[in-house]
Amino acid sequence: MKNVLSNSGLVIFDLDGTLYEGSEHFDYYAKHLMKKLSPVMYSSFYEEYEMMKAGNHVVQIGKAYDVNRDCLLTIDPIKLTVIKVEEWTGTVWSEEQTNKTFPNEVIFDFENIVALGDGWWLPFTLAKHYGIEDCYSSYLATKEFMVTEDFELKAIPGLREWILQLQAEGKVTVLVTNSDKEDVLRLLKELDLNDVFSHIVSSARKPSYTLEIFKHLIYQYDVKEEMTVSIGDNFINEIAPALLLGMKGIYIHPHGTTDETEASNLKVVRRITECF
Ligand SMILES: [Mg+2]
Repeated sequence: MKNVLSNSGLVIFDLDGTLYEGSEHFDYYAKHLMKKLSPVMYSSFYEEYEMMKAGNHVVQIGKAYDVNRDCLLTIDPIKLTVIKVEEWTGTVWSEEQTNKTFPNEVIFDFENIVALGDGWWLPFTLAKHYGIEDCYSSYLATKEFMVTEDFELKAIPGLREWILQLQAEGKVTVLVTNSDKEDVLRLLKELDLNDVFSHIVSSARKPSYTLEIFKHLIYQYDVKEEMTVSIGDNFINEIAPALLLGMKGIYIHPHGTTDETEASNLKVVRRITECF
């Protein structure tokens, strides 16, 4: 970890799944979507969701989902091309069919081809597979749930002190998140992290604008790419663009192994606490 963070001048953090943990809100989202089905479907829907969470399903964080073809895509994170296609049953497409159907770089549009970047996308993918059209109202209901007293945000012990320590070492700490400003400020206040970032970029629309935002921050704070570190739980949103720019990345991957890569520019951790 020391290698990745030592000598860095700028550290860019993601918010959801990076600065707090827990999946209670994702479960709420899944159940809200489930209620849009006929009750006879509830148990198979939720069983599949539990399998996804446990990593025992073809739908997994890190892949992409083609909503119209109802299949899962494994994407080369740097070239953004499709390297494997799996149907819901697990059947793998031939190379010929894969290349014919996806000859070019994939464009993620949040509607037809979605990157399963974090836990929000598992219930979404499942709902689409079950034919649920409207996921957005359930997403909004979940966001509303997250501001009630019933929802307890799980702060990560030692995180505040660690970020303050990075600042004390002279590093600029920036938060770049897709959440909107109101959500961000509320979450940061609840996590006691409202004063640990020099700069906050909200509604960032990662991954579409990640490269632009990172480039701008590097320019604004006048640091070299190799002295800039991106920390996040979404490879496509936060890590691949960083590596592409010559930055370093700390990828938080709950099912990952820390020795997955020994590359000096990338570190894989299960939890951010491994950085402290
Ligand atoms: Mg995240």
